Amino acid sequence: MKVFKFGGASINSDDRFRNTARIIDSVKEDKLMIVISAMGKTTNALETVAHDFFEGRREAGLDGFEVLKKQHLEVLESLVPSDEEGKQQLQNVFTEIEWLLHDKPVRTFDYYYDQIVCCGELLSSLILQRFLHSQKMNCRWVDARDIIRTDNNFREGLVDWEVTASQISGRIKPLFDTTDIIITQGFIGSTDENESTTLGREGSDYTAAIFTNLLPAESLTIWKDVDAVMNADPRIFPEAVKLTALSYTEVIEMAYYGAQVIHPKTIKPLQNHNIPLFVKSFIDPTLPGSVISHKSMPALPPIIVLKEKQVMMRFSSKDFSFVEDKPVEALHKIFGEVRMKPNLTQNAAISLLCCFDDRPEKTDQLAAAAAEMFDVTLERDLTLLTVRHYDEATLRKMTEGKTTLLEQRTPETAQMLMRRVS
Ligand code: ASP
Ligand code: MG
Repeated sequence: MKVFKFGGASINSDDRFRNTARIIDSVKEDKLMIVISAMGKTTNALETVAHDFFEGRREAGLDGFEVLKKQHLEVLESLVPSDEEGKQQLQNVFTEIEWLLHDKPVRTFDYYYDQIVCCGELLSSLILQRFLHSQKMNCRWVDARDIIRTDNNFREGLVDWEVTASQISGRIKPLFDTTDIIITQGFIGSTDENESTTLGREGSDYTAAIFTNLLPAESLTIWKDVDAVMNADPRIFPEAVKLTALSYTEVIEMAYYGAQVIHPKTIKPLQNHNIPLFVKSFIDPTLPGSVISHKSMPALPPIIVLKEKQVMMRFSSKDFSFVEDKPVEALHKIFGEVRMKPNLTQNAAISLLCCFDDRPEKTDQLAAAAAEMFDVTLERDLTLLTVRHYDEATLRKMTEGKTTLLEQRTPETAQMLMRRVS
């Protein structure tokens, strides 16, 4: 048995759906579990709908949702013309959301976010199911919310592995006795009270890894719009090279520092069972792609990760008390409360410097909370450069014409927080 995960880009048009179906069809001999994301940029659009709803712009929310409805119905119509059953299935999802959008919010934003945003994956997976079915492929659709159990930490649901494992044994495995292909959604789950949850943006990879671990499957393949994992973003670095084989550790490190290869939580479930992860191009499936397993290719080149929109915050003690542990402890407590994790920190005698992803409302919340105990200053619009397996030439090239505000090096990894010089 294998698990395939297709992201939003591999199903953002009817042609891409057809391509996805061809890839699925090409592995006839095997049982396949398919995990898919929402079509194209649907999740972003649903986020806007959720904001409109929560902030009282009912009409805007409904209008935004109408656009998405039309898009999905059009794709279904093009793939499976006059499919009344398929349309009805999509309609059932639409109705549930519209019902909510007509309500008034009385719970938290994060709760509504999950109830609304989860529909992107439901819709795309229903369309894929209808299409494969019309192509006479033996497949079943499963609602991931009946399988993936999480706590009620909306927007960042923590998976309950025990319950999820028993759902997979009880509900998924028996289905494979009568079907070759099971289609489900990435990114979504539900609480023990049947409320929808999501696992964090880009969380579909993680869902795929959970299924791979618990089924268990012999491998996970993530189909992407790149030829392989690269040592740098090829849109920024035309000279980027392919990394044909990477160790689990290397990928975890890359993801940790912000490389948008694979969702960081994806690796552990695979590594724990020593299951290989293949990253392959859905544009040209004949390319070898990358394999992630227990060992890397020899002599890895420098791996470059750039994180934009960073904010550096300096927390200084008002009364010189910083040398004790207490203020640092207090700060970390505040970070936890506003759920911001520093990407880089540096201690000085009476201050702590931290670099964060700048999410304006969170940054302001953090600054305000910390200002009760510390003098807080911040600088925005910075770039965090991380180079794994660095050499001096690469670092020089990457920092040319920039001011470095913070720098840290280990034998493996160099990190620099930089300000553009204009
Ligand atoms: N559709 C979700 C997102 O865009 C999950 C995913 O793509 O993995 O974040
Ligand atoms: Mg995606």
